[in-house]
Amino acid sequence: MAHFPSALRQAFSTNLLTLTKFRDLLKKIKRARPNEDLALLRRAYQFSAQSHLRQVRLSGAPYLSHPLEVAHILADLRLDVPTIATALLHDVVEDTGVTLQEIRENFGQEVAHLVEGVTKVNKLDFASREERQAENMRKMLLAMVDDLRVIFIKLADRLHNMRTLQYLPPEKQRQIAQETLEIYAPLAHRMGMGKIRGELEDLAFEYLDPIAHQEIRQEVEGKRRAGEDLLKEVASLLEAKLRENEIQARVEWRIKRLYSIAQKMKRQKTDINQVYDLLAVRIITRSANDCYAALGVVHSLWSPVPGRFKDFIAMPRPNLYQSLHTTVVGKTGQHFEVQIRTEEMHRIAEEGIAAHWKYKEGGLYSAADERSIAWLRQLVEWQQEMSDPTEFLSTLKIDLYPEEVYTFTPKGKVVVLSRDATPVDFAYAIHTEVGNTCVGAKVNGKLVPLRYPLHSGDIVEILTQKGGHPNRDWLAFAKSPRARNKIRHWVKINERATSVELGRKLLEKESRRYNLALKNVSAEELMKAAQAMSFPTTEDLYSAIGFGKLSPRQVLARLFPGSALEEQTEKKSLAQTVQKALGISREAALQVKGMGDLLTYRAKCCEPIRGEEIVGYITRGKGVAVHAKACPNVQNLLYESERRIDVEWAASTEDTYPVQLVLRTHDRPGLLKELTAAISEKTNIRNMETKIAESGDATIDLTLDISDKKHLERLILAMRKVQGVREVERLYKV
Ligand code: MN
Repeated sequence: MAHFPSALRQAFSTNLLTLTKFRDLLKKIKRARPNEDLALLRRAYQFSAQSHLRQVRLSGAPYLSHPLEVAHILADLRLDVPTIATALLHDVVEDTGVTLQEIRENFGQEVAHLVEGVTKVNKLDFASREERQAENMRKMLLAMVDDLRVIFIKLADRLHNMRTLQYLPPEKQRQIAQETLEIYAPLAHRMGMGKIRGELEDLAFEYLDPIAHQEIRQEVEGKRRAGEDLLKEVASLLEAKLRENEIQARVEWRIKRLYSIAQKMKRQKTDINQVYDLLAVRIITRSANDCYAALGVVHSLWSPVPGRFKDFIAMPRPNLYQSLHTTVVGKTGQHFEVQIRTEEMHRIAEEGIAAHWKYKEGGLYSAADERSIAWLRQLVEWQQEMSDPTEFLSTLKIDLYPEEVYTFTPKGKVVVLSRDATPVDFAYAIHTEVGNTCVGAKVNGKLVPLRYPLHSGDIVEILTQKGGHPNRDWLAFAKSPRARNKIRHWVKINERATSVELGRKLLEKESRRYNLALKNVSAEELMKAAQAMSFPTTEDLYSAIGFGKLSPRQVLARLFPGSALEEQTEKKSLAQTVQKALGISREAALQVKGMGDLLTYRAKCCEPIRGEEIVGYITRGKGVAVHAKACPNVQNLLYESERRIDVEWAASTEDTYPVQLVLRTHDRPGLLKELTAAISEKTNIRNMETKIAESGDATIDLTLDISDKKHLERLILAMRKVQGVREVERLYKV
């Protein structure tokens, strides 16, 4: 006689319970999809049972019961085997030590992809976000998944969690119920999944407003007995009359759900007696024609309430709900609603898009799938809740490439951007000033380059700096029209400011050279001269000089007619003119002071640092670009030799320059520590990112603040000495 220890006996009985539940699941699927191969499900069940072994729900039930229930909900929707297998596995990656790789190896790419999708959605934390962002949250959720089946699984998961919510602490209950009402129930509604939506709403309502829920339940209970009697009588009368008229149909009845009663009473500011569709009879026919015939039967039996007839067959609702609705008055004076629809319409009303969604073997779309995608598009197009329907349409392109990314500020505000948007787009979406002074960005707490493509769910923090400013180079990666316009605008204004400044100086210097008293020329005269040369303002005139479109002498000749100017034939190079203008003698070079100098700037391609050999290049309107002599771009630039100007570093200042380095190393313990020690505490490390390849080789991207060339050389030498470092290279953007 076996004498099981109680723990073992318990394990045995729960095992039996879940096994029975699994057998029921298989039966259910066999009924809906007789030709389906169920081996995948058996393996998924065993795998899930193994992984969740010894895990227990707060209800005390074995954890396995949860994925099983979720699978049942999806099987009731007649979804495909991979979806149901995923339901069985949906929590193993998140809650047990199993990796996605293992799922892929055991169950293939399709299931792994679905599990990954559900895991990703589970990581979204709606609770910590700002209020009134529900719409964006729903959109984000949709944008994040590339397969609608992920949403079906998530909805089923949520439904079962709501059904077992009583086991959680009250605070958690409220939070989950709120999220359900704001995010998941509307999502189910949008998908046309009336049944799941209804249950989610009623469950959430009970936890969020227990008093109102209790009140309405009592009121409904008070009417239930009378209502049920009436509806039973109505139903049997209807069945007889429909038979008489040879209309094949079945008749159902229901009492309206509590949450929709509460909503209706609130919306219409009425009491429960005014809710005409509290009691409803449903006639489900074989054809649309029969719907209208049945309507005739209904109206011959009871008088319709004027203004309550609605033809949603001819004019479907946005989520493609179709039915005839009419409200009639019963014998006792009690109102009730009659809904008439075909079987197909009924299925869509209850299951929505899930009713359409069938994946074919090998992932090929059938004509029916194409229709369901078109259907989804239409659904979205008809969304009346949206202020901008086109905006929503683009997010719901579930076939299946999201056009938008949903990102967050550190405080949880949603920022919607277009695909491949960068931190620069994000910064300008926040505020123009933030964009204009943006110098760096952190995504999910990590420093990233400004050209980094953002993903849905990223938390983006923009680093700004007083005096920071946009850069022409940003135009190469900024995506949003807003950011691009703002950058262009800034560049234009600032290039102009520089060119006006340069033009003014050039004109002054040139006038001094010829001993012409420019200060005696009045503002009006200058303006006249400008307009005579077809420049609307004096500033435009200066700017033209600065840009090199106009020589200062041409202007002086106009301002001082008859002066000795014309005789001066000595031809000056542009460089000489600039040198003159800036008060530099012909032999001396232009002093490069460092950062923040209006007239000189370090070229973005090579970013020379103090001590490096440099070459100046007079740009059109941006002042003098300072390149390293070694910069590959210099060769090209020097084709225009007249734009070349000698430059040299001004006496040392406190300035430092960010310099990017790439280190190729063999990774070993302690490497980073020694490396940072080699860099020494006096040098600021702006950024350090390590990528380790499978071979054990590592690439380290490093940005250091460097004061001059010697400083850099010293550091490179020190880093090369660290064991395991193979190569240290300065990074140029070419
Ligand atoms: Mn779950």
